[in-house]
Amino acid sequence: MRIVYIMGAFYLAALVFLWVGRLGKISRKLAVTVSAVFLLAGSGALAAAVYPIGNSYGKTVNRLQDLPGNGVVAAPSPGGAEFAAPLPGSAAQKPAPDSGKTGSPAIPSGGYMALTFDDGPYPPYTDRLLDVLKEKKAHATFFLVAEQAQRHPELVKRALAEGHTVGLHAFRHRDFLKLTEEEKQKNLAQGKKVLHGITGKEPVYWRPPHGFRDFSVMEEAAAQNLAVVNWSVIPRDWTGIGKQEIYGRVMAKAEDGAIVLLHDGDSPFYKASRQATVDAVALLIDSLREKGYHLVSLEEYQEINR
Ligand SMILES: [Zn+2]
Repeated sequence: MRIVYIMGAFYLAALVFLWVGRLGKISRKLAVTVSAVFLLAGSGALAAAVYPIGNSYGKTVNRLQDLPGNGVVAAPSPGGAEFAAPLPGSAAQKPAPDSGKTGSPAIPSGGYMALTFDDGPYPPYTDRLLDVLKEKKAHATFFLVAEQAQRHPELVKRALAEGHTVGLHAFRHRDFLKLTEEEKQKNLAQGKKVLHGITGKEPVYWRPPHGFRDFSVMEEAAAQNLAVVNWSVIPRDWTGIGKQEIYGRVMAKAEDGAIVLLHDGDSPFYKASRQATVDAVALLIDSLREKGYHLVSLEEYQEINR
């Protein structure tokens, strides 16, 4: 069910109780109290939809340990996306530090972290970011706007060839809470088709634009076999802050399983620079490794923990 209907139902119930109180069927105090509860419930339902963390509307991956088991996205269920149990032992085990070489010997360390990038591909910043990741031999995850991927397929192919995970952000960047069922279905299906056409692989990870989701959004994602992946660390790199600020905010929240939301792209209408993010990533990779974190793409994490 769409969030607008849920909120509408709660607000309508609030109005009904106020009216019943006004007619004197119940005490005014009771009517006001019940109405206030319904108003709060409606607002809470919206807050849960726009808050990136939490499973109010279905299973959302916020940390690496939340990823569906064995790299397989569970079959759709009527109540929304239900994934397999969290990876056994993934939270408890002590993985290898990221020495820059995948598959290096295991030494006790801080754990795994994933850098994820939204809104690309977006030259020249996606190219520069790929250069940094290549130089540092680190893998990341890109949630692409498929419409832009059509314009820059070479960047998508490069990301894939260099070992990064390619996920879907949307065909066109839209607030999915505002889309009809049909619009959601078409946006995701078209996005999947475009990425499949470029990479030869069906994307299995989806980051909803802005991280917003309700029952309807989650059901559509499940129907299209997409795991909904949000984040646990959000340095707000799109707000014009510098590389040191981005770096500091991520380091302050670094922990095993953290999924970091960064941006290598922007709307084609605004064309903001993402240089601060690119520069911050170079600093982050070094510092996170010094702290013992193994930087992985989502696919890589699932491979390691299979
Ligand atoms: Zn976005």
